[in-house]
Amino acid sequence: MKGLSILGATGSIGSSCLDIVRLHPDRFRVRTLTGANNLDRMADLIEEFRPEMVAVLDEEKAVALSRMLKGISKPEILFGRTGYVEAASWPTSDAVVLAMVGAAGLLPALAAVDAGKQVALANKETLVMAGEPVMARAREKKVEILPVDSEHSAIFQCIRGNRARDVQRVFLTASGGPFRTRPGSEFSDITPEDALNHPTWNMGPKISIDSASLMNKGLEVIEAMHLFDLAPEKIEVLVHPQSIVHSMVGFKDGAVMAQMGVPDMKQAIAYALSLPERLDLNTPFPDFAGLGGLIFERPDFGKFPSLEFAFEACRRKGTLPAVMNGANEIAVQAFLEKKIGFTGIFDIISTCMGLHTCIDNPDLSGIIEADSWAREKALSLI
Ligand code: NDP
Ligand code: MG
Repeated sequence: MKGLSILGATGSIGSSCLDIVRLHPDRFRVRTLTGANNLDRMADLIEEFRPEMVAVLDEEKAVALSRMLKGISKPEILFGRTGYVEAASWPTSDAVVLAMVGAAGLLPALAAVDAGKQVALANKETLVMAGEPVMARAREKKVEILPVDSEHSAIFQCIRGNRARDVQRVFLTASGGPFRTRPGSEFSDITPEDALNHPTWNMGPKISIDSASLMNKGLEVIEAMHLFDLAPEKIEVLVHPQSIVHSMVGFKDGAVMAQMGVPDMKQAIAYALSLPERLDLNTPFPDFAGLGGLIFERPDFGKFPSLEFAFEACRRKGTLPAVMNGANEIAVQAFLEKKIGFTGIFDIISTCMGLHTCIDNPDLSGIIEADSWAREKALSLI
């Protein structure tokens, strides 16, 4: 029985992870759960999964949640950064699923690594901000960071059984999002409702906007660079609107391995939690004959400058990726609140990256400082 801490349990990845627990109650036991604002959902999850401890956003929410739990045996209820760190290092948990959104994932991720837990990482912002220190800490603690992001899980599966040094190229696939075929001249009319309507994946709001701006793919380029120790020139983004090929790896003999499946995050989450075994997930295979063919296109860097921002951040390293990420988080929130237009996201990130004085080899506090600087700068631009 594997004890699980699920951070971000009230979200989209958290829900898929809990579906896996429901399918395999003999293998997994929920020990801790975290959320932020959605107390109704958290109360339902507590009733169903009986965790030992939960954490929510702040003290007020913790008190409100406690009041909602009349009649059932209450778990320990903590809140804020301390609560999330506690949930990630909880003694009875063997594995931690990091599925909270945004930079808030960084400290719990480090706590899970320090506690020697098996880490299933969905929260890509952690590696984008602080890939070097996090990966160094994981190596030091001999903790393997197992990717949950579907592309990175695919790359991981393609490399397993091969030698990492034989990898010549990684083909990172992107659905292209809802605006793949919309002319760039019409981007200023895009509303949050249009952007939240992803053609192939059903995800939380922040990553849905990131997918529409292709910043999600930019974040994933940086994530792949750290997870697989790749030079940025070895990573090629390919638009693949069907989302069947989750990514591919090209080896030096010209062989290319692809990992495929229907777009369902349960596959990647379950693989991280059960490898090398594969769990029965009642998931269908893609209807290959029905598809008729697999489509690949080159991404349009002109329409989606986020890809160029990410490659620039990869090459420059230092505090620049954290600045790109922090500015993006603020810009996405402002777009969702209709304070800026869709292309305003690109403008804000570009301005913040341009104004930032990049620091080489920053420690964690340098990274957190750069993140705060970017957020303040982005807010001032809005
Ligand atoms: P959701 O928005 O659906 O869920 C986010 C979760 O994080 C919720 O549990 C939310 O709590 C919690 N949360 C929000 N703000 C904070 C905060 N400040 N501190 C702590 N917890 C917080 O997101 P997704 O599940 O879609 O994505 C989660 C992560 O996984 C992201 O980093 C995303 O990039 C990554 N990912 C997601 C994929 C997907 O298919 N959804 C695919 C690959 C990666 P509450 O709802 O209670 O407020
Ligand atoms: Mg992905």
